[in-house]
Amino acid sequence: MANPLFDQLFGKHAGKTTPFLHLASGATLTHAEFLGQAAQIAHALTEFGLKPGDRLAAQIEKSPEALALYAACAQAGVIFLPLNTAYTVDELTYFIENSGATLVVCGARSEPALTPIATGLGAKLATLNADGSGSLTETAKSKPATFNVVDRSADDLAAFLYTSGTTGRSKGAMLTQANLLSNAETLTNYWKFTDADVLLHALPIFHTHGLFVATNVMLAAGGSMIFLPRFDLDAMIANLPKATSMMGVPTFYTRLLDDARFTKDLTSHMRLFISGSAPLLAETHVRFEERTGHRILERYGMTETNMNTSNPYDGERRPGTVGFPLPGVDLKITNPDNGVTLPDGEVGQIEVRGANVFKGYWQMPEKTAAELRDDGFFITGDLGKIDADGYVHIVGRNKDLIISGGYNIYPKEIELILDEQPGVLESAVIGVPHTDFGETVVGLIVPEAGAKPDLDAIQAAVSDGLARFKHPRKLIVVDTLPRNTMGKVQKNILRDTYADLFA
Ligand code: ATP
Ligand code: MG
Repeated sequence: MANPLFDQLFGKHAGKTTPFLHLASGATLTHAEFLGQAAQIAHALTEFGLKPGDRLAAQIEKSPEALALYAACAQAGVIFLPLNTAYTVDELTYFIENSGATLVVCGARSEPALTPIATGLGAKLATLNADGSGSLTETAKSKPATFNVVDRSADDLAAFLYTSGTTGRSKGAMLTQANLLSNAETLTNYWKFTDADVLLHALPIFHTHGLFVATNVMLAAGGSMIFLPRFDLDAMIANLPKATSMMGVPTFYTRLLDDARFTKDLTSHMRLFISGSAPLLAETHVRFEERTGHRILERYGMTETNMNTSNPYDGERRPGTVGFPLPGVDLKITNPDNGVTLPDGEVGQIEVRGANVFKGYWQMPEKTAAELRDDGFFITGDLGKIDADGYVHIVGRNKDLIISGGYNIYPKEIELILDEQPGVLESAVIGVPHTDFGETVVGLIVPEAGAKPDLDAIQAAVSDGLARFKHPRKLIVVDTLPRNTMGKVQKNILRDTYADLFA
């Protein structure tokens, strides 16, 4: 019997008494204990009626049991569908219905609201709480700690991972065992993870970053994780001395830098800091190196592909870039109008191909056909360029590109200037409809606490630095920018809000 995902990430640790999870409570779970728990849960899934190929939708807090549920799904051949814990009941209804899940696992608090929905859609419901209690583990605890692994091939689906919904409704990306395994192996080698590594893990495990990048890499390497329920500054500072490596989103790094306890001494023993999921400002990269002597390694990926590019481990980690295509990943920059490859240095759409690229969007054949080419290249929806040294730069999302009077305008170029102005905390630049130009530029500015940015001075600064057609026609001060549950700015909402300014 073979099941590549289970065998290569989980099964190979069977019987090992090496640590796998160090918990906030101070307790440690060994690989063998974790696998015993996973096997018991796999039996429980069978008792709940799940068969290989069925979908299991889980909206659960981060816990060892939640991770064991992922292992149990792999072992039982069930397709795992983790969901953002911030989603409301209405949002969950869409995911359960869209995925055709036959078992919904949620916290006891959501049980009353979700029971009628699950029942209406013909799905069963089990509970799993943050402390590991609930009907799922209740059913599991009397079961044997071994489970006959269900036969699967590398081409079988392992997970449906829904995209973050930054540009519109979340899409279910169908990921095969081979998609996950190939990337886990590549990243483990590229970033030199070994069984001596202890990863500080404060990311959510419903997203590709915390689940497939962090967890799969540590499983492949055989190391352990300090498994924190969420990012908490005190806990991060307290646990850094025990870690060798950390993965985080850019806000982890800015928040650590804002804390005086985050010093060179605290981090001198660390091997590696990795950032991704959103752009890391070059300024953060530089501040981090000044403070700690470490250069953050930035990489780039997405739900549909896992990771595509990374700054080098040994070579120069270049701020403001996402490094080189990973081994086994083909990356090209193409003209969005005709798909023709552009020369290095020119901005176009980023396309990627490799064993990491997903099978398609679940029940969205038209969207799949529009974005996944016959030759295997996936049109990522991001715009970027490759510089003379081969480093990939992300310029922004294709949907956020502004076309004014026939000229292409990349919001990021303007945002970088706005962000530097006195009193400006952050900014977002969007295109809004304009009767003469088709679209024109509007800049939204969030002031620093208590600051009153001087809009005339900011306009003047922008005018000095940018060609006339890129100047914002209007600057607007706002309290906050709309963000989705992953903290990404939702420009589609801003575009709707300001659609009538010049139309
Ligand atoms: P949706 O596709 O539903 O609109 P989303 O694209 O935000 O949501 P994810 O798959 O979570 O959903 O995010 C992937 C995107 O995050 C990438 O396409 C890219 O735009 C952005 N991203 C990831 N890493 C980086 C990075 N290092 N620098 C800049 N952008 C990044
Ligand atoms: Mg996307």
